[in-house]
Amino acid sequence: MNLYSTNDPSLSIPLDQAVLQGLPPDNGLYMPDEIPSLSPVFFEGFGRMSFQEIAFRVCEVLLGDSVPKTDLTQIIHESITFDAPLYSLDPQVDILELFHGPTLAFKDFGARFMAKLMGYFVREKSEKLTILVATSGDTGGAVASGFFQTPGIEVIILYPSGKVSHLQEKQLTTLGHNIAAIEVNGTFDDCQQLVKQAFLDEELRKKLWITSANSINIARLIPQMFYYFRAYQQLQNKNQPAVFCVPSGNFGNLTAGLMAQRMGLPIAHFVAATNANNIVPQYLESGTYSPQPSIPTISNAMDVGKPSNFARMLDLFGNDWAKMRQAISGYSCSDQQTREVINQVFSEKGYVLDPHTAVGYLAIKEYQKKHPNTHGVVLSTAHPSKFLDVVEPVIGQAVEVPEQLASLADKPKEATAMGVDYQAFKAYLLR
Ligand SMILES: *Cc1c(COP(=O)(O)O)cnc(C)c1O
Repeated sequence: MNLYSTNDPSLSIPLDQAVLQGLPPDNGLYMPDEIPSLSPVFFEGFGRMSFQEIAFRVCEVLLGDSVPKTDLTQIIHESITFDAPLYSLDPQVDILELFHGPTLAFKDFGARFMAKLMGYFVREKSEKLTILVATSGDTGGAVASGFFQTPGIEVIILYPSGKVSHLQEKQLTTLGHNIAAIEVNGTFDDCQQLVKQAFLDEELRKKLWITSANSINIARLIPQMFYYFRAYQQLQNKNQPAVFCVPSGNFGNLTAGLMAQRMGLPIAHFVAATNANNIVPQYLESGTYSPQPSIPTISNAMDVGKPSNFARMLDLFGNDWAKMRQAISGYSCSDQQTREVINQVFSEKGYVLDPHTAVGYLAIKEYQKKHPNTHGVVLSTAHPSKFLDVVEPVIGQAVEVPEQLASLADKPKEATAMGVDYQAFKAYLLR
């Protein structure tokens, strides 16, 4: 597998370079130079495949000889360690539960696979790779957990003091080993700025091999394709067109779905579900793309005003607006509607939606008003216990906190406190 940049189609670099670099030097995004179709033979045996086998087969075709088969098998066995079950919420809608991983969000899939793949690519390097991540909450936890104890890689996570939830902070600060946390006395933007400055610091980069692990890395998109296949495999009624609805922020998840469809998975249509940050639905409506400052909402992992994977979506449709809107419908909803639907689904069905999944459920229901003969699959991106402060007042009772999260409460926090001070950060990195 070789990759080009969305800003330079003539570029062609191998997967290991794209993964270890993250971003092309021209500020585009890496895309596979070919998205091959799966053979009919794949679909013949599909019904009986395990999740890991699906992942292996998809990778085998997509990655070609970039990773030898035995190593690929191991990477998949170490990263795809929990399932993505479908829950039938109503006769027309299934919920694809992507929250059974260590940090209870779909980001575990991307982060774990990326960690194992990077670990594989650095295995024979003498130098240690340092990964810098600024986080406003969720990404840092998934990355920390994914890279925990990966040989040859150290992870440094910067988070804004007092601005992540208590349990999110625990996810970042209690692992130890190769995972270090810096508690920055500032905002998320300050954290991001410190990381950016480090990448621009030539002197630092001569001494330290650094890269990032944010969602634009192609290694995070690849494993996000697997669960679209897993979902389709579990669909009871394959006669109705399958419409996948994706609660979206940076649109990595939806982009991975488009790639799965390109490989031949029979997805009839996509629904892009957003909160008030409705840049992509507006683009689909009007043909004009206008990024905006992000608006805070209760589905805050989707508070993105400039979706980073939009360039990849455009690329997949050859920059053709008409083609994109044939494939994707966009919906946006308010916090008020989100709360209402959490309450309604809980009282009618006893199922607790997290705020992000709730946005998705609203969107598929809107879509199905006009397209009744479809079967919806809503990607459930997080477990409701990650958003207790939103969910509990709405449903009027306690949400059960799974063991992965509950056990963190007693673990001691370890973080280095720091001001917004690049020289101090640099000294820390070179310590
Ligand atoms: C990151 C995240 C999203 C948004 O996913 P994108 O791939 O950025 O569109 C949605 N829900 C939750 C819970 C998330 O953590």
